[in-house]
Amino acid sequence: MTGRRAVIADRIDRALIGSLRSTGPGTLAELMNRTGWSRPLVTAHLESLLSAGTVGVIDDQRSTGGRPARRYSLSEARRVVVGIEIDGARARVTIGDLGGRMLTDSETLGPHSRGLEQFVTILPAAVDTLLSAVRRTKVDVGAVGVGVHGHGIDRGSIERRVADVLGTTVLVDRAVNLAALEYRRGFGRLADDLIVVDVGEHIASAALSGGRPLRRAGGLAGDIAHMKSTGGTEPCCCGAAGCIESVASGAAVLRHLRRSGATVSSFDDLVRLERRGDLDTIRAVKQAGREIGDVLVTGIRLLNPSMVLLQGALVRTGGYLINGVGESLSSTSGRQASGVLLLVSDDSGRDAVLGGAVALAVDHVLSLESADATAAQPGRGGSFGRGREVERPGSVDFELDGS
Ligand SMILES: [Zn+2]
Repeated sequence: MTGRRAVIADRIDRALIGSLRSTGPGTLAELMNRTGWSRPLVTAHLESLLSAGTVGVIDDQRSTGGRPARRYSLSEARRVVVGIEIDGARARVTIGDLGGRMLTDSETLGPHSRGLEQFVTILPAAVDTLLSAVRRTKVDVGAVGVGVHGHGIDRGSIERRVADVLGTTVLVDRAVNLAALEYRRGFGRLADDLIVVDVGEHIASAALSGGRPLRRAGGLAGDIAHMKSTGGTEPCCCGAAGCIESVASGAAVLRHLRRSGATVSSFDDLVRLERRGDLDTIRAVKQAGREIGDVLVTGIRLLNPSMVLLQGALVRTGGYLINGVGESLSSTSGRQASGVLLLVSDDSGRDAVLGGAVALAVDHVLSLESADATAAQPGRGGSFGRGREVERPGSVDFELDGS
């Protein structure tokens, strides 16, 4: 195929996939209508997407009389993805379809006390079990999306080791980035520019810009956890002092309460005390909210999002943390900070991460560079994960390849 013809072919595939993704399943006539391409072109491209397993046909038995028109759908595609959430020594695994839905309940793996190496030895069997439940095999897996909680993630090692055992492309991102992606799917276009702050035992945050998580050079753009709080001096796990993580996270509030003589032994204890209405706990949680709000103001000024969404164990309890955040934002002069929509997620954030991991993998499979590679080499992803930028899928420019 010449360069120019390859570009046009790629563009037609993209138009069809884009239409199935944004508008949903459609018949040949509907897809011709939506994309503006001719019947022979659309037919030929649908057939090639079908044989690559990137598009499927809805089995509609309910139609009566006459032959029902075939309806094409991403959810019915043979190709599937694996979504993984790693949280310390435990992980959850699920299978997703190319429409972005989870096809199975998640399987919990661990605790694996020997870390990543132990995890990768038990992962393949768990994935095989889940795949057989949805009548698929390893060759049908187009990509794997992994969300990892915590700071200091060694993205490269996880990508390499999981890719080694599953034999396909692996994309790794911070859990909070993936939760943000999943929330955005729920809110639609309203939330193209969004900051998500997760406050539990630790703090993590993500910023979506134009619907995509900001990652930048070190993959940490959008994370407020290690921004300095005003007057904070407490040493932080990152080596600095006075970070919002060391001042206002659940662990920090716990430390603060213990120092002032409270008998509170764990983070779960802290959550229980707040729920029970313990005044010292409420005061400390609310103060943590104010500290987070003060730092958020800077983030809001820098990124100008339309919405800030708070999630996590310390957010869901008595509502005191969000009161503190709201106080800081409204006491700050300037519309940018006080006018931003502040929301609380009623979800634990856990399914959001797994859903986001599926979405990340689907983005990769549906980027056509990958669709071509996987069609040519079944069961093997195009770029094999190593060092691949996760924001690339879906935004690859058309290039004349000159072949
Ligand atoms: Zn820090």
